[in-house]
Amino acid sequence: MGVVKEGLIREQSPDTNILLTKVGDLLNWSRKNSLWWLAFGPACCTIEGLMCLNTPRFDLERFGIMPRYTPRQSDLMLVTGTVTHNLAPMVKQLYEQMPEPKFVIAVGACAIGGGPFYYDCYNVVRGVDQIVPVDIYVPGCPPRPEALIHGIEMLKQKIMARGKTD
Ligand code: SF4
Repeated sequence: MGVVKEGLIREQSPDTNILLTKVGDLLNWSRKNSLWWLAFGPACCTIEGLMCLNTPRFDLERFGIMPRYTPRQSDLMLVTGTVTHNLAPMVKQLYEQMPEPKFVIAVGACAIGGGPFYYDCYNVVRGVDQIVPVDIYVPGCPPRPEALIHGIEMLKQKIMARGKTD
């Protein structure tokens, strides 16, 4: 049974059909299986990595992960590419408009640390974690869609392990 493997069930009575778990674990299990990501993309990692995930080949929605077009309904921010100093206040504002609990994945070398623009570009933020807290880093220029799926799976494990219940 999937929920047993994922560590959701704490006790299972052999004689009855009663399963015991914690409310916090149940909430986290629900959250990790219905991550709604904020539809925005600052740079080319959006095209190369993120948009591919919503094609039939990768079909991200089969994992319960789908885009929302307002931060008020989103709990996952995928920062897919270069964040300039001009864009940084908007990224921070979008993050602040998302309800708790919320999660951030930095996708690609630019979002992680400035990427190829680290040197000689005065206008690029050298890592989106200088603006918002980042939960998972997915390296690459751009990362393959499979790497992004792996990063999302890592985030799911982190959600279950961290015990976020608020
Ligand atoms: S990491 Fe590479 S592909 Fe992604 S935004 Fe930067 S330059 Fe573009």
